[in-house]
Amino acid sequence: MLFQCGVNVRRIRGDRMIGPDDFITSTVWIKKENSYYLCLKNSIYPNGKAYRITYVTMDPLFFSLCKWSKIVFEFKKPREILYFEIESKRLAYVFCRTMRDIMIGKNVIIDTNQNPDALHANNAAIDNFDLNATELKVVDNFDNRILNMKCLSTLVLEDCKSLVLPEEIGHLPIKSLNISGSEMPTSQHAKDIYWNWTSKPTISGTLTTLKMDSIGLTRLPFEILYMKNLQTLSINNNQLEYLPHFIGELAYLKNLFVADNMLVYFPHCLSFGTIAEIDIIYNCFHSTELYDHLITYKENIKEPTDFKLLKHIAFFNLMDNLPQLKRQDIPRSLWEYFNYVGRCTICWRWTLPDYCNITCIKFWPLGEKTNMALHLFDEGPTWQLMNCTDKNDCEAHEK
Ligand SMILES: [Zn+2]
Repeated sequence: MLFQCGVNVRRIRGDRMIGPDDFITSTVWIKKENSYYLCLKNSIYPNGKAYRITYVTMDPLFFSLCKWSKIVFEFKKPREILYFEIESKRLAYVFCRTMRDIMIGKNVIIDTNQNPDALHANNAAIDNFDLNATELKVVDNFDNRILNMKCLSTLVLEDCKSLVLPEEIGHLPIKSLNISGSEMPTSQHAKDIYWNWTSKPTISGTLTTLKMDSIGLTRLPFEILYMKNLQTLSINNNQLEYLPHFIGELAYLKNLFVADNMLVYFPHCLSFGTIAEIDIIYNCFHSTELYDHLITYKENIKEPTDFKLLKHIAFFNLMDNLPQLKRQDIPRSLWEYFNYVGRCTICWRWTLPDYCNITCIKFWPLGEKTNMALHLFDEGPTWQLMNCTDKNDCEAHEK
């Protein structure tokens, strides 16, 4: 990797830090010789300076800063602290992730053709509006001219400020969409209409790859269910505390990248799927405080039973038929159920925590290629199961 950002270098003398506190625009890259090195080049070090990455002091606090695009590394040799100010959240994440992988001893593949003097040519965005183009990369803002690109198959909208995807984008035959590092809208209305493009029949049939790394996602939108042919879902470095069980409905999902979230367990339904490659490193599977969103929901149930039952029946009906509706066309009171709905592992009918027992087991993921924390290799991550409370009714419907 090779990029430009602001860097501030301070020397440590005893318990004091020495050096100017301004950030200098620098070219930063990682190289591998007999060891991995973090290199930088700027007006102070015109010939470049290299730091051996094994000399970084591991401090988890430093890493957590990467969510805000600020990264700090303390080196033991030379005793220096390096501060990085990276505008792109996506890039900050890739940088931090690469450094961390190297530090825990992973074999990280480094591009050997990096030339720090040719950075601008490398990084230039493909920004042409040839209406017949099949690929487009835009950095900064969505441009409505995109809507006229009727052959568009790959759309990259990385690091866009306050990205709003117009509904009409769903009419384009896009196979691969990448919105990593882009800022989600903050107003409630903009959030409500954000996923409306998914309701269009064109894109829901063509989309096979969706990348949404580092966008501050706290819940997986249920509209992902409309992307029936989705094969690759990348949601690294977000703030997801759980994956809703509906993710198991994506019948063609092969690659799932959920590193750097706050996951404590996986929905059991995923183990039946077609997943070949999965990345779950840097999550909370080892957590001793078992936060369980389904049990938390169950403990907070307050609604009167009759009214609740009607809503649940309407919701199960919706899940069975799944019309491609815009979020606003579904009563708001039903939205939250998408986070809690799942299939009973025995009768395979839809259920909610109101009607099931929730249990956890540990076993190995079934994917051929799994990237997870070393300590999980003994027994595997935790999986969460839902089973009907009414055993007789369940067995009567058992499949
Ligand atoms: Zn059941």
